[in-house]
Amino acid sequence: MRQKVLELTIALFIVVIGVVLTSIGTGTGIGVQEAVSVYSFHESQHDVMDDDSAVIGERAESEGLAVEESKYVIYINWDGFAYDFYEWANSPGGPGTPVLNYLASRGALYTNAHTGLPGTTVPMQTSIVTGAWPAVHGNTRLYYDSCLNIVRQMDRENSSETIAEVVAESGLSSASVQQFTLYRRGTWPDDPSHLYVQPSGSWHNRVAEAIKILKQEAVTLGDGRLVVVPEIPQFLAIYADDLDTIGHNQGISYGFSLAFDHEAWRDRLIRKLAYMDSDLGLLVAALSDLGIMERTAIILTSDHGMSHFEGETSLPDVLDTLGALGYTPEILSAGDKASPHTDIVLVGGDLSLQFYFRRNITLPEYNEIIDTLKEKPYFGGYLSFHELAKHGAHPDLGSLLIWAKPPHHFEPGNLLLRVGGHHNSGDESSRRVFMLLSGAGIKPGIVVDRPASIIDVAPTMSHLLGVREPADSMGRVLEEAITGN
Ligand SMILES: [Zn+2]
Repeated sequence: MRQKVLELTIALFIVVIGVVLTSIGTGTGIGVQEAVSVYSFHESQHDVMDDDSAVIGERAESEGLAVEESKYVIYINWDGFAYDFYEWANSPGGPGTPVLNYLASRGALYTNAHTGLPGTTVPMQTSIVTGAWPAVHGNTRLYYDSCLNIVRQMDRENSSETIAEVVAESGLSSASVQQFTLYRRGTWPDDPSHLYVQPSGSWHNRVAEAIKILKQEAVTLGDGRLVVVPEIPQFLAIYADDLDTIGHNQGISYGFSLAFDHEAWRDRLIRKLAYMDSDLGLLVAALSDLGIMERTAIILTSDHGMSHFEGETSLPDVLDTLGALGYTPEILSAGDKASPHTDIVLVGGDLSLQFYFRRNITLPEYNEIIDTLKEKPYFGGYLSFHELAKHGAHPDLGSLLIWAKPPHHFEPGNLLLRVGGHHNSGDESSRRVFMLLSGAGIKPGIVVDRPASIIDVAPTMSHLLGVREPADSMGRVLEEAITGN
């Protein structure tokens, strides 16, 4: 057995190196293009869809390849995995991501996938597993309750069905390795057929736990009991927050060292991604060892990206500017109440500000606020109440959302001795996420620049598993990536 594992590992290593070397030999651009250039399916990123699907279909037919139905779906979420990180790691001089690139050669890499609003972890993780935006599943994290005059912070509230609940109802087996949005929402610590485990620690620990589950080896529950799953789970979710931790760069509470400038921050993220990529190879090797690689689809995405910030805070200027326009603004944190004379409550204060008006204001007054702030060097962008609604934001997110232009920020204090990272922003660095679909049922080696969003993941996984979509799903099946389309 050990010999076999070794052989398969070596075989995989050779394949991966082969993909990388072929890419290096043929490409001149960044790794994203290089990785797929071994497959000459597309001329350019335009019309990737129509042209490629025809070519791939013909090729599969002419070579007599059977289009196998997906039997297993593995959903991996690397919290805070901005698409930028992938590009940085695969830029000239970067360490590359050979395993991700290998998976991309067997799948569809999305270059234009976005998250929703607010760009914070629980609401967006919930959107991924339900296929619904916060307006529907109800979790918007932080908001001002005007009736009770208090800022509330939500926990894991979710009123929509999860993909794991559909899987369980459909009679398929499943497991979740720390994908907390599925905790008692389709996976449970006391149900070996729909198992929830929480190994904690790094991605390395969590992927090791996932491999144990796949190999039907005993894993330890929170109360110390050992459990063995009765079969290889057909749906397996794995969550890891290593990148998010490095991105926040908050020192002792989040890690052991700090990045003091933007370049160091970026380097640490690239290094962490390379480590995670390497450990992802262990999962691929395990799937090969089990003989199910060809019947497995792997979906890897994230809840949000990451924007860096540093220097003086722009928050005092926002407050002064609103004051000069005749308002009495007040920034509030969770649990705070507004003073009686406050007419604009501001919530957030990291990279974005949610506006709540405590008196009626006219449309010209509303526009005057936006137009005045637009002139500021720190102004990154805004969404009006109507635009927020169009993006699926919860009505409680506020009547106006503005965000800072990186590296500006709205923190309570200045950040002069180090850089920070956050993702609660409308900036592209926070909104564009990594998304890759790979393996069984997925077209190999395509790069998709058609817009996709994180709410498309749940209906796509439903399609691959052959189960119905979660009840409130608003996303689309990513058909351009599915074989047979
Ligand atoms: Zn997150």
